[in-house]
Amino acid sequence: MMEKVVSTQRTFFRKGKTRNISFRKEQLKNIKSILKDNEDAIFQALDADLHKPAFETYETELLITYQEIDHILSNIDQWAAPQKVNGSLFNFPSQNHIYQQPYGVTLVIGAWNYPLQLTLNPALGSMAAGNATIMKPSELAPNTSGLLAELINDNFEPGYLTVVEGDAETTQALLSQPLDYIFFTGSSRVGKIIMTAAAEQLTPVTLELGGKSPAIIDASADLPVAAKRIAWGKFINAGQTCVSPDYVYVDQSIEDQFCELLQQYITEFYGDDVQQSPDYARIINNDHFNRLTNFIDPEKVYHGGATDSADRYIEPTILSGISWDDDVMQEEIFGPILPVLTFEHLDEVCNSINTHPDPLALYIFSSNRETQDNLIQSISFGGGCINDTVAHLGNLELPFGGVGNSGFGNYHGKASFDLFSHSKSIMRKKSWPDIPLRYPPYDGNLKWLRKLSNLL
Ligand code: NAD
Repeated sequence: MMEKVVSTQRTFFRKGKTRNISFRKEQLKNIKSILKDNEDAIFQALDADLHKPAFETYETELLITYQEIDHILSNIDQWAAPQKVNGSLFNFPSQNHIYQQPYGVTLVIGAWNYPLQLTLNPALGSMAAGNATIMKPSELAPNTSGLLAELINDNFEPGYLTVVEGDAETTQALLSQPLDYIFFTGSSRVGKIIMTAAAEQLTPVTLELGGKSPAIIDASADLPVAAKRIAWGKFINAGQTCVSPDYVYVDQSIEDQFCELLQQYITEFYGDDVQQSPDYARIINNDHFNRLTNFIDPEKVYHGGATDSADRYIEPTILSGISWDDDVMQEEIFGPILPVLTFEHLDEVCNSINTHPDPLALYIFSSNRETQDNLIQSISFGGGCINDTVAHLGNLELPFGGVGNSGFGNYHGKASFDLFSHSKSIMRKKSWPDIPLRYPPYDGNLKWLRKLSNLL
């Protein structure tokens, strides 16, 4: 069956329809109008999968997708046009251009935490670049996966754009087919499986993975702003965000003050009984619920800690007195539990982060420019913010991606277009002049080559 899916796409791609920029624009506009017409169904699907508040669905799933489409539509003519570059002396006279060529058939594999956006958004880049695209949303968000399949498969030619639903086995079946590009969002563990399968066929791959993303707060920081923005970035989608602050590193002199403020904002955002708040999501499934509750060491709970398995509810929880030896520091948390670590000197912070796998994001709260620059340069991480969390994702001019264990390859905006395009370099020449220097026999030519190279 997957053979048929991929061969249908290859046949369609070879017809050349996607080379036409107007065709690509039409298809992107079509996606936007389908999403607009089905916003209520999308709110319902995300509510069913994650109890995601409609505001968060609009902000983090729909708006981000609409903006991506609008940005592509405004810029695609320029991105897709052959780019003229300088010639070189040894090839004078020549015209030199870089052409952007679609790869062919691409596969986008999505994660469950932002199940619409993380599958659709990379696919928009693939479409903009002129590829035929197969999307495989996460089976762990079945309502969104089903709705996306319905919306796409009812409205697009399967050879151009299609959704294949299924689990690991389905993905494996797709990966065994000849694909031209694979874009994966998910865990580092599965990322290795994807890359191994891609290596078999030398298929290029992008891995958007996760990791433990720190928020660092020094003594010069505006503490209320730090606490408020960290509480927002951590507890949106109940902490199930790849770039949410995984843990906090705070100057020990301000720890108490920071924790009190954090507590205050949690109550301000979600009320005294968070379980009753309409603005707070739930954990995706029982496995993740059980994994997360094991991190809550009652002796270290500073705030929260309540759970309800029937509702897959975990209260926003702050843990204090935490060190790198605690269980909660051994893997990406990916839930509403925030451990707070303290430091005396920032050097300790750099050393400990750099001796662990590279984070996807890092957040610095400081009013000292030197400290900000020093941390940016001395720690390896995907990207981040100064005095905010998560917000860097909202700027399409900023390429988004990880490094090391948090993945490789960047997307969003132009970065997506470039990622899904092969840069084909072309030198255009005339038959005349044909300078004889390069041709054998080389007798005496070396002296001229030396003279010429000295002119450079
Ligand atoms: P996951 O790795 O379990 O699953 C991701 C996708 O891979 C799903 O579509 C799933 O069906 C498929 N899959 C699972 N096992 C497979 C296997 N053995 N073979 C082939 N395919 C398989 O990830 P997840 O639980 O959906 O997402 C959570 C992780 O993703 C976290 O680590 C998070 O940080 C990361 N993430 C990263 C980003 C980013 O943009 N960098 C965004 C969201 C999530």
